Amino acid sequence: MVITRFAPSPTGDPHIGNIRTALFAWLFARSNAGKFYVRIEDTDKTREVPGSVETILESLEWLGIDYDSIQNSQFSIQNENSKFKNVYFQSHRLAVYKQYAEDLVKRGGAYVCACSPKRLQKLREQQQKEGKASMYDGHCRQIESSKFLIQNSVIRLKVSRDESTVFNDLIRGTVTFENNLIDDQVLIKSDGYPTYHLANVVDDHEMGITHVVRGEDWLPSTPKHILLYRFFGWDIPLFAHLPMILGKDKAKLSKRHGAVSVLEYKSQGYLKEALRNYLALLGWNPGDDREIFSNEELVKQFSLERVQKSPAIFDNEKLEWINGIYIRDMAKRNPDELIRRLSEYSAMNQNKSPLFPKNQQQKITPQVLNLVADRLKKLSEFLPLTQCIYQLSNYDSSLLIFKNSSSKKAQEALTHSLELLRTIPTLQFTEDRLQHYFNHLIAQQGCTVGEVLHPLRVAVTGLRNSPGPFETMAVLKKKETVSRVKVALEKIGNL
Ligand code: GLU
Repeated sequence: MVITRFAPSPTGDPHIGNIRTALFAWLFARSNAGKFYVRIEDTDKTREVPGSVETILESLEWLGIDYDSIQNSQFSIQNENSKFKNVYFQSHRLAVYKQYAEDLVKRGGAYVCACSPKRLQKLREQQQKEGKASMYDGHCRQIESSKFLIQNSVIRLKVSRDESTVFNDLIRGTVTFENNLIDDQVLIKSDGYPTYHLANVVDDHEMGITHVVRGEDWLPSTPKHILLYRFFGWDIPLFAHLPMILGKDKAKLSKRHGAVSVLEYKSQGYLKEALRNYLALLGWNPGDDREIFSNEELVKQFSLERVQKSPAIFDNEKLEWINGIYIRDMAKRNPDELIRRLSEYSAMNQNKSPLFPKNQQQKITPQVLNLVADRLKKLSEFLPLTQCIYQLSNYDSSLLIFKNSSSKKAQEALTHSLELLRTIPTLQFTEDRLQHYFNHLIAQQGCTVGEVLHPLRVAVTGLRNSPGPFETMAVLKKKETVSRVKVALEKIGNL
């Protein structure tokens, strides 16, 4: 059975790249009817950012990336006591790593190093002066394990020199590292905590991980891990190092390219389906030029063979385009669901923006949605585009005047419009019927379309650029339309 995992360190908001890794590992597990675990690698307490675990889990949950529980007694005990269900923390297993490290020392795969920080500093300076890479010089390799008890000592990996470590990466093919360039990596630090390398290998082994799917930036760590597996005599999992994600300028994706945290995309008004779809395309290609995939289709079609080696380019415009496709599709197939998402979105942003006044959600109706559904690329665009329906702004009365026409003409047109609107039965407030009535009025008055419809459109929307007057009036209905035209007449009367 395929078993993969996502092993984030809780060092801040998860980056788009981290979650793309989680998605690929999850897709690979699910497409093989396998298991997917979440493990929090929290052994470096100095880098930990409070609240990160919550944000990581929220991001996974939002995108529908679910995770399994481990059916192994030592992990299930941990799980029972955790407030995070099915999430495994390395900091709960410190004694396990220490024991493995000591075992490794006995087996000759690691050694105790008692070099003082001062000596190490000197060594680094010397190497720098000589233009060499900074590496431990193996000074303590021969020291007996009785030194275990020395305070401030560390345990280091004993890298077998003059060999090379070769492995087959599922994405990158054969990868070779010269051992002479691999540092005698610290496995247990002087504070007794394991480093990433030891804890990662021990857990991947104990969790039965078959495929290690992770970002390419971890490639240089892999030979160290392979040496550890060999020293322990464990089966080595298969590795798949995913390509980096770069911005359009080919630089590593960072804040200056815009949002980089997944939840930021949520608050900018992206649909989870669209973001998941787009993330899946960052490094994976389906083999044809199709770009829109449902979650089920992704699970069915995903394969590591179709993951590219070269970096993936993050293109915000493309994400926006995909989001627009999902929004329009939802507006057509399931408008109630889109209304629910829009309401949820405005509730989420209520405290942040004056555009989202309290209790406005229940007013999102299918008619209002129809006004703008074709133009929406993000949920955040909905209220700015439909704001005029909910609330008439205090617009400047000069807006009511059409091009080079006069305020007198606008006043006349609005008076005729008001008279007409009063005679139209409420049930006839549909786009088609209103258009019909006004065509008639324009013909009767012998004026231009703009002279009548421009002041009317501004009167009912309060905006210079807005949806057309008929669709707007059809949504506003008779009472509100009449009252807005009256407001316009008052304004123009005072001009
Ligand atoms: N803790 C590492 C990270 O933050 C995990 C790397 C791996 O998957 O081995 O990405």
